Amino acid sequence: MYKGMMEIMERRIRSGQLAPGAKAPSESDLIAEFRVSSTTARRCLDELERLRLVRRVQGRRVCKACGTNVSAFGANPSTVARCERCGGELVTRSDDTEAVVRERLRVYWRDTRPMIEYYSHRPTFRVIDGAQEPEQVRQALVAAVMGVAKAAGLSVPPGARV
Ligand SMILES: [Zn+2]
Repeated sequence: MYKGMMEIMERRIRSGQLAPGAKAPSESDLIAEFRVSSTTARRCLDELERLRLVRRVQGRRVCKACGTNVSAFGANPSTVARCERCGGELVTRSDDTEAVVRERLRVYWRDTRPMIEYYSHRPTFRVIDGAQEPEQVRQALVAAVMGVAKAAGLSVPPGARV
């Protein structure tokens, strides 16, 4: 059911019925339409958001001049016209444009999804959120590797650099 729901949502984004990067449908929309649990609905939204296919907050913009990210939380994005730091023009982030999102989707379904399905059945499979800050990703990776090593009864020398 989960995979079917993801595929339907992906088709809608591909067909333009739901614009890439558009505001996400609500959890209760998904529960009503697909008759899934709130856990499954949330998992679907989490994944779509992680792939940057939908947003749960208003779109981000970036200053063309200095690169500052601007989140237009709650505000009408069109009213946020200029960078607060340097007064530069604000544009949609290039990694959020429709063509980029479509390409990311294509690669995801062709390459990434089959890999996840292949490896997810292994007991050492772990999920790490790569959208975090690099240092947080590093820490999560280290924690995951240490956890697996510990569960396998391997000892890690104190002070080992990872
Ligand atoms: Zn600026």
